[in-house]
Amino acid sequence: MKRDQVFEFFRRLAEANPSPTTELESSNPYQLLVAVVLSAQATDASVNIACRPLFTRINTPQQMVDFGEDDLRDAIKTIGLFNTKAKNVIALSQALLDRHGGEVPRTREELQALPGVGRKTANVVLNTAFGEETFAVDTHVFRVCNRTGLAHGKTVEEVEAKLERIVPQPFRRDAHHWLILHGRYTCKARLPECCRCPVIDLCRYKPKTPPPEERAKSSVARTARRASSTARIAKGPTASKRTANHSRSRPNRLP
Ligand code: SF4
Repeated sequence: MKRDQVFEFFRRLAEANPSPTTELESSNPYQLLVAVVLSAQATDASVNIACRPLFTRINTPQQMVDFGEDDLRDAIKTIGLFNTKAKNVIALSQALLDRHGGEVPRTREELQALPGVGRKTANVVLNTAFGEETFAVDTHVFRVCNRTGLAHGKTVEEVEAKLERIVPQPFRRDAHHWLILHGRYTCKARLPECCRCPVIDLCRYKPKTPPPEERAKSSVARTARRASSTARIAKGPTASKRTANHSRSRPNRLP
């Protein structure tokens, strides 16, 4: 995509949603960090359901360590990989107490040194809690970037590096939220909703998904075609069988 197209791409996403943010619920950087760790391979909705009651009682790493791994495991058992995640959250809370006075650090290196915290989690926390211009690439961002031609890359690192290079101001801070939300609700994995996409003319993905009414029409046509070809197939062998039987049943006339 050319520079002016990239600008226009984000301008339109920004116009449609001027204040994007994460859908994970939290009331401080520590809770956000915990929620992001728990959200690996899980939906934000499932994390919110488990964390709502948990976060009414737990605001700090010390409270989490006091709560303990067994109770935490029980509190998050509806989230995938809850055993490993409970272990990591207790370990990272202890590490925050030991190394950072109970505060969430503000550098990528310090964040990534915490148990269970990878580059994507660090990027989300730096961006959402501290306002840094980072580009967390999750499955939605990866798909949207490659599909649209915004930022091609074989790995999340390549896509992130490309976004770093191409996303212009004033969109850098919120770019990853726009891309996640666009991928989650419009440019969906199985069936992108191209007919209501604000960047349809900028996107290089082909073929575009037709509007629902056209899809319905072609599905009716497909069903009709399938039905008539099934009927033909059913008729064919029967008809030939009949002919064959008929000719077999006729006595051979000798001259
Ligand atoms: S036009 Fe379709 S494929 Fe392209 S970004 Fe929009 S929804 Fe995704």
